[in-house]
Amino acid sequence: MSIKTNLDSIKRTLPDHVTLVAVSKTKPTGSIMEAYHNGQKVFGENKIQEMTEKWEALPKNIEWHMIGHVQRNKVKYMAEFVSLIHGVDSLKLLKEINKQAKKYNRMIPCLLQIHIAEENTKFGLDKAELMTLIDSLEFKELGNVKIEGLMGMATYTSDEGQIRKEFKFLKSIFDDLQSSLPHISVLSMGMSGDYKIAIEEGSTMVRIGSSIFGERNNSY
Ligand SMILES: *Cc1c(COP(=O)(O)O)cnc(C)c1O
Repeated sequence: MSIKTNLDSIKRTLPDHVTLVAVSKTKPTGSIMEAYHNGQKVFGENKIQEMTEKWEALPKNIEWHMIGHVQRNKVKYMAEFVSLIHGVDSLKLLKEINKQAKKYNRMIPCLLQIHIAEENTKFGLDKAELMTLIDSLEFKELGNVKIEGLMGMATYTSDEGQIRKEFKFLKSIFDDLQSSLPHISVLSMGMSGDYKIAIEEGSTMVRIGSSIFGERNNSY
């Protein structure tokens, strides 16, 4: 199946309020351009260097989302252009993003990543850590980052009940957080294997790679 066919069939299933992030990690610029010419302007990458190279090479109206784990010493490479950083999981990282954003005199939109999976390999804050972070004075003083919402990844399992439970949990944290941060609007949850469940549970942004571009031949 072609990228266009895949993209069209996924887009048909997405409600209007759900944004599609086409996850292009490991894929060549030709594949990205094929999606681009079929109307896709939002792409997700999980390595800062790879994303930066693609940003340099490709049309400047593409929105680049960093969906992977972010190393603090690499924030500077993407601070000029990144549209949304999904995986923010510490105040330290947020402070570095703020510092680099200031250099470019811009505001960088961020999502806070919440740990919802059973596996302890996945990054993210728990609910108590989230509340501590957003209640801290240091957080309130950051003028160049904007928290747009939350992101989470469900356990990699065929147990749909488990996945649904984890997405429900993330949505409940999102709803609670709205009392402290009323402007938040983005709930990034759902990938190729579980995005339909995620949308049923309140996702507003899905990150889909292999169902658009085909399988990746490594463990990214
Ligand atoms: C790779 C990746 C995706 C996309 O995964 P697919 O299963 O290919 O859709 C989504 N989110 C994150 C954080 C990823 O690293």
